[in-house]
Amino acid sequence: QQQAQGPGARRAMVPGVKHIIAVASGKGGVGKSTTAVNLALALASLGWRTGMLDADIYGPSQPRMMGIAGRPSSPDGKTLRPMENFGVKCMSMGFLVAEDTPMIWRGPMVQSAISQMLRDVDWGELDVLVVDMPPGTGDAQLTMAQQVPLSGAVIVSTPQDIALIDARKGLNMFRKVDVPVFGIVENMSLYVCPNCGHEAHIFGHGGAVQEAEKLGVDLLGEIPLDIEIRETSDSGRPIVVTVPDSPHAQAYIAIAQKV
Ligand code: ADP
Repeated sequence: QQQAQGPGARRAMVPGVKHIIAVASGKGGVGKSTTAVNLALALASLGWRTGMLDADIYGPSQPRMMGIAGRPSSPDGKTLRPMENFGVKCMSMGFLVAEDTPMIWRGPMVQSAISQMLRDVDWGELDVLVVDMPPGTGDAQLTMAQQVPLSGAVIVSTPQDIALIDARKGLNMFRKVDVPVFGIVENMSLYVCPNCGHEAHIFGHGGAVQEAEKLGVDLLGEIPLDIEIRETSDSGRPIVVTVPDSPHAQAYIAIAQKV
């Protein structure tokens, strides 16, 4: 079997997949999945053959955000065909279990589920596979970073101190296992009142810029807190495909150009 080069030499490659990019966050609720979905769509809009793996086993949000219903088929009984929408191939635990089924698995089961979703899926030829990581920096994330041949990671954080501290942990985790960190995306960085245009920094301001500088990584982009971002992703038509010319969609596309 073909092996990864460099520091990830022990990590078996995923056949047909050129690059795997992890989207991670130190904690939940900071907009990691929203960023992963819009980043994947932005990469596809740039002409890359793109796939997305929802490794957030306990809270899979990809089916809803990508507007995909139904179950993947397995014509050969061995590999699963990924689902697809907006030109992006997708695999998520959300396609395999009912939305209201709670996941009560232990760590090793989660690991094998992620590994199967990565390796027992017929991805075909992909330029890039975006992995929406489970939130946090625990064992599951570490194993994932160790076992998957990642080309690099994008860390999503809100501007508050606490979220940044968590983001720092995430960054250090990737560094420990020799996965390059492409940079930080500051999400919910600014709120512009749609009525009066007043600007408010609800979660503080400038934290990620300073933090990125301190840690020696790039600030890949700043995404504002905006109702359109929430409504489009919650309704299964993310902003990058719905309003590609909007400043928000352009911000995601600019991030895609940097990774
Ligand atoms: P995580 O994956 O970090 O748990 P999600 O991507 O699921 O976070 O986002 C949590 C909620 O916040 C979702 O309802 C999402 O639509 C919303 N959200 C994320 N980013 C933004 C943003 N920039 N503006 C408005 N809502 C956002």
